[in-house]
Amino acid sequence: MIRRMTDKLGLAHNQKGQLDLAHQVLSHSPPTSAIDHRGSISTQRTSESESSKAAEPSDDARSTNDSLVFPHKRRSKGTYRLTDFIFQRTLGTGSFGRVHLVRSKHNLRFYAVKVLQKEKIVRSKQVDHTNNEQQMLLSVQHPFIVNLWGSFQDSLNLYMVMDFVPGGELFTLLRRSNRFPDPVGKFYAAEVALALNHLHTLDIVYRDLKPENILLSLDGHIKIADFGFAKYCPNTTWTLCGTPDYLAPEVINQSRYNKSVDWYALGVLIYEMLVGSPPFHRPDDSSPMALYSRIQMGPACVHFPAINILAKDLILKFLEGNPSKRYGNLRHGAGDVFAHPWFREVDWEKLRNREITAPYLPKVAGEGDASAFEMYPEGDASASYGVLSEDKHGDQFPDFEYTAGL
Ligand code: AMP
Repeated sequence: MIRRMTDKLGLAHNQKGQLDLAHQVLSHSPPTSAIDHRGSISTQRTSESESSKAAEPSDDARSTNDSLVFPHKRRSKGTYRLTDFIFQRTLGTGSFGRVHLVRSKHNLRFYAVKVLQKEKIVRSKQVDHTNNEQQMLLSVQHPFIVNLWGSFQDSLNLYMVMDFVPGGELFTLLRRSNRFPDPVGKFYAAEVALALNHLHTLDIVYRDLKPENILLSLDGHIKIADFGFAKYCPNTTWTLCGTPDYLAPEVINQSRYNKSVDWYALGVLIYEMLVGSPPFHRPDDSSPMALYSRIQMGPACVHFPAINILAKDLILKFLEGNPSKRYGNLRHGAGDVFAHPWFREVDWEKLRNREITAPYLPKVAGEGDASAFEMYPEGDASASYGVLSEDKHGDQFPDFEYTAGL
């Protein structure tokens, strides 16, 4: 039965009948260090299908919104080019490129520039997701979401210029702390809830919530980064993407799903922050097949150590397997989340205005201090930046300007 489910997912099995993620699935952040990041996945099959949706016969469930144009105004963006920046060390890596700390030659401020290789994106059929990432980030402006200043491309690469968020990943802080005390978990969960609600009011589904994608600013408040799977979704969608530990059961089932998958992921995040590992994770049985099977069985197979009873209540309301009964997706939407008794003492207005002091202040020496980030081998990563060569894919990324000649 599990075998059938994973076949349906389009995922390959190795000889032991385990899922062979290495071949079928894209990993955004391959394990690189002692504290391994969990890679995000997206099947080629579903990405292909998603991008060819317009050509498909009308199917009520499928024709809902995949080819819709994002209706919200995008912020005006700046014009940037490669020669505006001095490239410094790598802050993080992914399947298609890496994120660098850079310094502007003009205002001497530090930024993070995400560089993506066009060839790899096209080969992995992630063109739509990449264009979505740029569009969605440019449409949102929120205190708890990373700011995109602009984007450009040259012959081989795409570049996205963002604020540098110096405090490192919540993931690193969590692994070092093992678990967070209840008020600390609540603080981060509440800021994430505000950010998700903002995205959802714009009909954006985020789809990759996890501690690796939550960065900490200088004052300890969160900034959600990596919009690689974010998408305009006023109704439902169906691409299988996200991070295995955080996938809602309906995503694994390949049913159509809606924005409530983000609330499900918030339930997983709260559990992971308070307990130290995600709810369906078992160190002694970590095959993806077994994980997906447990997710489908639901909270009945989750062990709850002694955590705040109200936190447990909210986690269970988010991990509800039936999306139409899931908190955040009921009649009062995010209102139910904000009003949940675990958040009783949260002053949402003050929190949104960053007037609540964060529980942890990153130890950062100065503006361009990237010591909160792990070190990555630099190799010849930047050798292709700015190189003039045949440009086979540029027209597939129309929102990334060509500014090399400016
Ligand atoms: P991404 O491919 O967007 O997930 O980025 C990979 C990694 O680069 C992240 O997990 C962060 O560690 C780092 N990173 C991404 N964006 C920023 C940013 N704006 N400021 C600092 N670090 C970042």
